[in-house]
Amino acid sequence: MRALRLHGQHDIRLEQTPIPSCGPSEVRIKPALVGICGTDVHEWSRGPTLVPTKAHVLTGCKAPITLGHEICGVVEEVGCEVDDIEPGQHVVVQPILADQTCRACLLGNINVCRQQGFVGLSKDGGLADYLVVKRQNLEVLPAHVPLELGGMFSNQLPSERVREALILYRSFVLTILL
Ligand SMILES: [Zn+2]
Repeated sequence: MRALRLHGQHDIRLEQTPIPSCGPSEVRIKPALVGICGTDVHEWSRGPTLVPTKAHVLTGCKAPITLGHEICGVVEEVGCEVDDIEPGQHVVVQPILADQTCRACLLGNINVCRQQGFVGLSKDGGLADYLVVKRQNLEVLPAHVPLELGGMFSNQLPSERVREALILYRSFVLTILL
């Protein structure tokens, strides 16, 4: 498959990589729309800073890494332990990766986890034909939210805030919440 991977400063390459396999608690997604964040630009122009050059403590991954952390897409395959999402559903990726064991995580604040990582920075992200994430990093888009807007909900919000935004979505509410 195609993947846009950051190798280092001023070094992004469109490459062919294997289609990622889907583990028991994971979901494989075909991205529909993926935002290009200022963080992505900074990783290219000044980095790598968030993209690890040594194995990331949570993911074990290091550059080159496929960028893209503002992702909405369509479910392609679910792992054997995932029973509440089906192929064909529209989803948005909540990209924060956390250890779930530090004080911040235990208080529910995964956005300030001491070991924090991100889909699309600490492991392969959405600027590819496919990506795989844990089920816990996904929210299903309600039917009244267009797929084209899904990526806007994903930008590093804690899951409960993404869920709240999706439930309440109307254009003016979206502006307030985000
Ligand atoms: Zn933590």
